[in-house]
Amino acid sequence: MVKLADLRQQYLSIRKDIDSAIASVVEDCEFVGGKHVESFEKNFARYVGVKHCTGVGNGSDALFVSLKMLGIGPGDEVITTANSFIATPEAITRAGAKIRFVDCDKRTYNIDVSKMEKSINRKTAAILPVHIYGQPADMQAINEIAQKHDLKVIEDACQAHGSKYKDKMSGNLGDCACFSFFPSKNLGAYGDGGAILTNDDKLAMKARMFANHGRISKYDHEFEGINTRLDGLQAAILDVKLRHLDDWNNRRIGIAKKYDKELADFVVVPFVLPGVKHVYHLYVIQVKDRGKVAKALADKGISTGIHYPTPLPFLRAYSYLKQKKSDFPNVVPLSSRILSIPMHAELSDEQVNEVIVNLKSAVGSGG
Ligand SMILES: *Cc1c(COP(=O)(O)O)cnc(C)c1O
Repeated sequence: MVKLADLRQQYLSIRKDIDSAIASVVEDCEFVGGKHVESFEKNFARYVGVKHCTGVGNGSDALFVSLKMLGIGPGDEVITTANSFIATPEAITRAGAKIRFVDCDKRTYNIDVSKMEKSINRKTAAILPVHIYGQPADMQAINEIAQKHDLKVIEDACQAHGSKYKDKMSGNLGDCACFSFFPSKNLGAYGDGGAILTNDDKLAMKARMFANHGRISKYDHEFEGINTRLDGLQAAILDVKLRHLDDWNNRRIGIAKKYDKELADFVVVPFVLPGVKHVYHLYVIQVKDRGKVAKALADKGISTGIHYPTPLPFLRAYSYLKQKKSDFPNVVPLSSRILSIPMHAELSDEQVNEVIVNLKSAVGSGG
């Protein structure tokens, strides 16, 4: 059996350190906030190369808090990609702003920067690019457009821990960045978790206060906020796992290279922008006859996924936007061809071969 991701296998590989990290949080009773959260925040900020990291309850809240603290709300529009998980546009609506979906690029699956300026108008306040599948969006082009039109840039880096654009880490490429530590992400907790990263002192301070009831100290509240905090157990687990992130990502990259080499003649393999470090949160191929291929793999015990079967503008949740298929000529046909195949650091060489052999034969027989 080959799973898409294997959290148990990963736990077994670092069991001693995880168990003792959990024990020390319980021993210290530092459950919300406290030294374990502070330690992880410091280490993750240093890893990404930014001044501030604020732990929050999950990636969706990281996005919401960022937008809100950047002053984005009613009357504003935010540009984002049609190819992501619903958490991305949900945060825009929750902040009170209007979503402007832009088609994705045919090769990288990231927001198509060549189509972005058409969607900019007087109300546009920000761009929310997603580093989809673990590959940074074309941030140089995005930042140039943002500068020209005076827009904020918020990175959705929830799938891209440890990835790089040119010489900078994802998380250090815009006004602020949002990470999710959902268990299956490249850096995942044992429950929900998230973080906001920024070099902006004021924004960091506001985000930290808003995420914790707008407080400065225990009962001194400057404004109303919400409760979305990273807890001590998750932080301690993340601190242990952060030490392995580069090794795990490099193993993913090694597997991707093998897949690329073996599969390129059979299916469309991922395209990586020059100068970018893709960390393969997902390894997404394109196949004709996807249903048949997925079933043939499932019959051999190999899991696959589809990220995502319905482009965001065409989810029922967004039917009110009345989007036209013809405005999304890339993502619409792609959504019926993309297939995510097993990708995680714990895959053995034998399992990688098993995927390759079975995928080749599935595609050969009608893919
Ligand atoms: C996982 C994910 C999120 C949301 O993260 P949660 O921690 O589950 O709230 C947001 N955007 C993208 C692209 C994601 O993959």
